[in-house]
Amino acid sequence: MIIAELDENSEGLHSLPQEQHDAPDSIAGAPARSLLAAIIESSDDAIVSKNLDGIITSWNQGAERLFGYNAHEAIGSPVTILIPPDRQDEEPRILERLRRGERVDHFETIRLRKDGTPLNVSLTISPVRDDTGAIVGASKIARDVTAQRLAAEALRDSKEELRRLNEELEIRVAERTGELLQIVDRLNGFTYSIAHDLRQSIRGVVINAQMLSAHHSEHLDEEGLEELKSLSESGKRLANLVDDLLSYARTSDQVVRKEWVDFSAMAADVSREAEKKHKDCHIDIQEHVTAEADPNLLRLVLENLIDNACKYRSGDEPAEVTIGRQNGAFYIRDRGIGFESEYSTRIFEPFERLHPVGRYEGSGIGLANVRRVLEKHGGRIWAESEPGKGSTFYFTLSPS
Ligand code: ADP
Repeated sequence: MIIAELDENSEGLHSLPQEQHDAPDSIAGAPARSLLAAIIESSDDAIVSKNLDGIITSWNQGAERLFGYNAHEAIGSPVTILIPPDRQDEEPRILERLRRGERVDHFETIRLRKDGTPLNVSLTISPVRDDTGAIVGASKIARDVTAQRLAAEALRDSKEELRRLNEELEIRVAERTGELLQIVDRLNGFTYSIAHDLRQSIRGVVINAQMLSAHHSEHLDEEGLEELKSLSESGKRLANLVDDLLSYARTSDQVVRKEWVDFSAMAADVSREAEKKHKDCHIDIQEHVTAEADPNLLRLVLENLIDNACKYRSGDEPAEVTIGRQNGAFYIRDRGIGFESEYSTRIFEPFERLHPVGRYEGSGIGLANVRRVLEKHGGRIWAESEPGKGSTFYFTLSPS
């Protein structure tokens, strides 16, 4: 609903007698005046005018519908009948501005209907001048914004409700996460103690098998000795698997404490162990390479990658391994058996093995653990390989 106040004494528009106010200069002649009057009268909008004393001088049917007063009741009354008691000070301020020749644009306020119901309106009020340029009244356009106001309030309420629900949800999620973490903690403790006991028992079996073989082999035939050997080897494999699983479980909740590490020195240290373990493994390390990493976790990464580089070679061929840094990524390169590039993602999943256990010892946990450790650092690992030509494992220790 639009409400406009015009200081106009036009035909057809309910208005004060001519002597009570002047005609506006904007309406040139009688035909124009009657056209304007027709528009105003037939408009669905409420159109009202007042003089500079704040007395209503015209009142159309739209105004009747909106405010509930008929023209007879409204014309000649002060415009303050439309203003709630706690907003009466608005009218003098509006009149003051009008007298200074200022406009009031989109002034959002509350007005009253005849039955006292409040109405949200947005007012635009402009001064009207006579032929001499003197301000004689005001034209006012106002919009009934009750619906928008209600919609805005409903929106605000919904947002507030949503915010409250979010807060509640976050608290509930935090509580449940806390409970779950406690359960995970208990389960981890349980897993550790079982794995620990299991490892002790397996070691016991392996040691007994070795003692049996050492001290009582003369009581066993060829087949018995073979079975004893296989029992001892299976036991060792099982013990290694439990060790790897324990290491994998440990890295899951390990906190990363980064510091500057002499990467070359650490790689050399790990390589010496690998060269002792694997026959004919030659490792060449780039000098003066440093890394920002958790030293214990970086060692675990190097141990796994260097061990694999020495391990996965064909027959009795020596292993040639190079280690260094290139384009911001660390690398461990071998000239071993390699693998098809289609497996270059799968090998980082737990228990994914491409080569037979009998020929190459392993549990399939190592690379999964390496990936987890590097991701905890914010880095990543990837591999390039070709069967028969060798593999290169690249990794970073921070987001690139
Ligand atoms: P594993 O204990 O079997 O060595 P890993 O998780 O370390 O387990 O490696 C997963 C699989 O990826 C290995 O079983 C092997 O098939 C393949 N792989 C890892 N490193 C190499 C490498 N340097 N050359 C060829 N294959 C490799």
